[in-house]
Amino acid sequence: MSCFKTSETISKLKTLIEIPSVTGTENTIAEFIEESLKKCRPNLIYRQPLQDGRFNVVAHFKGGAGPKILIFGHMDTVSAGEGWRRNPFSATIEGDRIYGRGSQDMKAGIAIALSIAENISLDRSKLKGDLVIAFFPDEEAFSAGARKFSLEFPPVDFGIALEPSFGEIVIGAVGKLVLECEVFGRSAHGSEPQKGINSITEASRFISAIDNIKLPSHPHCKAQPFMPLRINGGKDFYSPDVPDYCHFIIGKQTVPGETGDSVLGSLRKLYENLNFASRFEFKIGQPYYPAYRLEENNPILQKLIAAVTTVTGKSPSLSFDDGVSDCNILSDSGIPSVCYGPFGNNMHVADEWVSIEEIEKSGIILQKLLFV
Ligand SMILES: [Zn+2]
Repeated sequence: MSCFKTSETISKLKTLIEIPSVTGTENTIAEFIEESLKKCRPNLIYRQPLQDGRFNVVAHFKGGAGPKILIFGHMDTVSAGEGWRRNPFSATIEGDRIYGRGSQDMKAGIAIALSIAENISLDRSKLKGDLVIAFFPDEEAFSAGARKFSLEFPPVDFGIALEPSFGEIVIGAVGKLVLECEVFGRSAHGSEPQKGINSITEASRFISAIDNIKLPSHPHCKAQPFMPLRINGGKDFYSPDVPDYCHFIIGKQTVPGETGDSVLGSLRKLYENLNFASRFEFKIGQPYYPAYRLEENNPILQKLIAAVTTVTGKSPSLSFDDGVSDCNILSDSGIPSVCYGPFGNNMHVADEWVSIEEIEKSGIILQKLLFV
């Protein structure tokens, strides 16, 4: 097995940090990643265009008869924000740390994937099975890139998001959904409100009762409550008439096994039990991320655990994430997926950094999994 090239990976990471790619502005970095992958002579490389001109980059490397593995991740970062003591878009190396926006989330993962591709281009015979490398825009917003990929992807047995996973392997996560509710009451003159049905009063009664819904839990995740996020009703100007329409939005995280339909069902049941005078309509809004949990006996997960254990000297814990990512989308589309990647600290805040030692470890572990 050829060794992982840490210093080349670090220099790629510096370049990646120096190409800002805040969500919505990923095309320059996508072109850089595409060019870098092309130089590694993949069997196939293509773009998957999104409607707004952004695109996924997907490369296929043909390997032996081993499992077909996808390594993937996102090209976007959150904005730099305030409070940096270093330039967020110029990589600063201090000891074991590389500072810069996106350094750990997740340009270090991209740099590792590019290094692995380069290694493959030197000797294709070392690849145990087919490898697909895919990078997406928009993960920090709606996962539009992962959603595009989930509609059309090559056959793979397992996916690894090279996201910071803090020494653990993330094998599941909560889901997230938005519930939209419309209330259709009946208007009436303000002098005779008893002739109308006040949609705002009806919505308030519903929202006040929502915590009575019995919430499912999961062995790895406690029950996730409803969270009313917005309510709009009545006219934008003063009017004493009874408001006949109200719209409200409720956010909710979900546990594995809890689906958009099951949550809608529980809302409809509450509506029926409370005898409303007005008609309510419920639907799932955007974004929607289904919860997922990978079976622990998945054979490729077991191989990844073995590779981590050999390289680090200790068996990694398997964890369940309390936030969503592109992994939710890919898992839901049928690709058993985990997050495993290098980490540092200060994700999404000032002075984000990633550890060089962790980059090297992750690179070696992935090559152990992928290479003969
Ligand atoms: Zn991330």
